[in-house]
Amino acid sequence: MDSNCQGSAACGRYAPSPTGRLHLGNLQTALLAWLQARLMGGRFILRMDDLDQPRIRPGAQQQILEDLAWMGLDWDEGPDVGGAYGPYLQSQRTRYYAQALDMLGKRKKIFACFCSRKDIALAVGAPHPGDRNQPYPGTCRANLYPGGHQTANPDDKKPLSWRYCVGDRKIVFDDLVRGRQEQDLATDAGDFVVKRKDGQFAYQLTTVVDDGLMGVSDVVRGADLLSSTHRQIALISDLGFSKPRFWHMPLVYDFRNRRMSKRDGSDSLEQWQSAGKTAPQLIGEFAYPLGLIDQPGPLSTQELLASLDSTGFQEALRCLRTGKTAGQWQC
Ligand code: GLU
Repeated sequence: MDSNCQGSAACGRYAPSPTGRLHLGNLQTALLAWLQARLMGGRFILRMDDLDQPRIRPGAQQQILEDLAWMGLDWDEGPDVGGAYGPYLQSQRTRYYAQALDMLGKRKKIFACFCSRKDIALAVGAPHPGDRNQPYPGTCRANLYPGGHQTANPDDKKPLSWRYCVGDRKIVFDDLVRGRQEQDLATDAGDFVVKRKDGQFAYQLTTVVDDGLMGVSDVVRGADLLSSTHRQIALISDLGFSKPRFWHMPLVYDFRNRRMSKRDGSDSLEQWQSAGKTAPQLIGEFAYPLGLIDQPGPLSTQELLASLDSTGFQEALRCLRTGKTAGQWQC
């Protein structure tokens, strides 16, 4: 697919799912994504990953915009300000995902899959303790598009999903925080869903299409998405997009040592604000443990930006390899 974005200018993005109020870990990631884009002199995009309707919370999108602005971030393109590569709500971009799926189909990269979760569990056998998600066992792979089951049996109303056929590819990339990352897609991920049985396009596809069409050069996000990146790189290459740089930030754990989650309201900005704390205090709390400032203390996003240069910032991020930042904030 053709990226709309001309040239090689830097472009960053923050792409929250409006499933609840942002927690402090989300806000730290947004700040780092913004700093990376701004330090490179690039555009910054705010995109809403609002496809998963049952999980979307009314009012969450507006609250996210307000919280990011409260913290002192700004964006050049987004659902509230528009921009040349919009729309910026995934729910309004399904035509692009459909085009991408069609392109993958023409390249014989996807197949129709009729398996239920139960079928897959039975085919892969009993999971062993410590097993992560079992790769898809390949049951429907013979349906490679376009001569697939759907075409061959037009009367068959059985719901189907579309899976991407990973083949025997190894994907290696250098994450700019976590270093070299390698995955054998067949054994570590398996053929993965790009369009679900309920008709919804899947995260791996939508992210790649949006980042590609919007010309995103730097993907800064939480380390929970690190293992998705190999699958996304396979799609990026098949769809003809340029590969962005990836920066996967350590997850932030709350002071009870639980991974923060929007859904359980952990360490929300609401708690921070109701304790009477300000945005500059929060920026200072983020920046000091990350080594972005030498002395603890409050400062605005603009002051932080002005105090950094891109080489020093990127070096500080590279030092964050531990993967977990525990209990930084207590509201
Ligand atoms: N929407 C995803 C989330 O809120 C992030 C997607 C991404 O950054 O690739 O976790």
